[in-house]
Amino acid sequence: MHSPTLFILSAVLMALVSTVLCAVWHFNKQIPGLRLWTLSYSLGFLACLSLLVRDYLPEPLSVLLTQGTMLWGACLYLLGCIAHTGKRLVSLRHATVFIAALIGLNLYFTVVHPDLQMRFVLAGLGNGIFFLLTARTLASGERQQVPMRYLVALVAGLHGVFLLLRPLLFKLGPVQPTDVELVALLSQFVLLEFIVALVFMAFGTLMLANEFITNELRHLAEVDPLTSVFNRRAFLMSLDKAIHQAQRTEASLAVLVIDLDYFKKINDTCGHQGGDEVLRHFVQISAQCLRQQDVMGRLGGEEFAIFLPGSDGAGARTVAERLRAAVAARPAATHQGSVALTVSIGLTLCGRGDSSDAALRRADQAMYQAKEHGRNRVEFMAQAPA
Ligand code: GH3
Ligand code: MG
Ligand code: MG
Repeated sequence: MHSPTLFILSAVLMALVSTVLCAVWHFNKQIPGLRLWTLSYSLGFLACLSLLVRDYLPEPLSVLLTQGTMLWGACLYLLGCIAHTGKRLVSLRHATVFIAALIGLNLYFTVVHPDLQMRFVLAGLGNGIFFLLTARTLASGERQQVPMRYLVALVAGLHGVFLLLRPLLFKLGPVQPTDVELVALLSQFVLLEFIVALVFMAFGTLMLANEFITNELRHLAEVDPLTSVFNRRAFLMSLDKAIHQAQRTEASLAVLVIDLDYFKKINDTCGHQGGDEVLRHFVQISAQCLRQQDVMGRLGGEEFAIFLPGSDGAGARTVAERLRAAVAARPAATHQGSVALTVSIGLTLCGRGDSSDAALRRADQAMYQAKEHGRNRVEFMAQAPA
């Protein structure tokens, strides 16, 4: 296959990918990094065009165009990943200086001291470093939540290593400068690797966008927008899983239902906005009283639930008492001033054959007992013997 054919193929692929990314970006502008990835592939398209016409341009201009578009293309992809992950490895200023230095050196080895080998090394070096940094940036975050990042990181990393090592390809074996056919063959291999890597990365980029949207939708479906804890449905699903796990491992599991006392009065005096501030304040205090494995959810209105994996009756009572005392001791700061608050807590333990519904009902009954006994207190209700 002739190189021009490969250049045309690359240009068509880059144009196609840029168009698809641009369309996805148009409808999902909230996906961080997608705009930069789209620009990156557009520059990739321009790089292919400049490779196609390089024989018709003065050499320094062709070097400037090809290297400029390729390096900025790789750099924008990296900046897109930085925007997507929030993991800042390089700044735009550093990247600009780095690219300017590389292009300067490339021009030096084109005009002042012509050296094709050095130009090839420099081209691989700049892009290789950008792709390795891309891999490093993407290989961050919770692997189970963002598995696609690791796949794209793998492709970017392998491509980066290949770019850095590819000058060796021309040094190995019986390649002489006169071995024109072999050099041409290797050049085509290099170009094919470039096409394959960038097409894989294009699929990966679309998967990253898809992963972001899926995670956003899951978040919207599971999390209460006011307090950022699980909503009722997600909490119940989580509790079901925890009950099964506790029954399998014969571990204890405690469930609390918490209701804010006289919340209607707070709403009446501070307004709905003040009430919302009090709800957020309560969740903040609760988070400070809980361990990482404890899970909190908003059952509705001013009623919350928490389950404590591994906690027995005494442990759970300590947590509940600590939470009750902390809420009573720390009034909420609202736009209407400081608002005192107390909570009534119902507590139960999950036993054999228990379900999330039954456990929650018991904890709810215990909470109503706490209300009846004067509020600002913790009551316990045991599972009825089978
Ligand atoms: P008790 O001590 O018996 O629990 O009394 P209470 O006033 O807390 O209970 P009640 O169920 O009578 O009132 C709950 C109030 O919570 C009524 C409702 O307007 C308010 N509420 C429910 N959801 C929200 C919300 O999202 N934001 C705010 N600000 N108020 C809410
Ligand atoms: Mg209440
Ligand atoms: Mg209530």
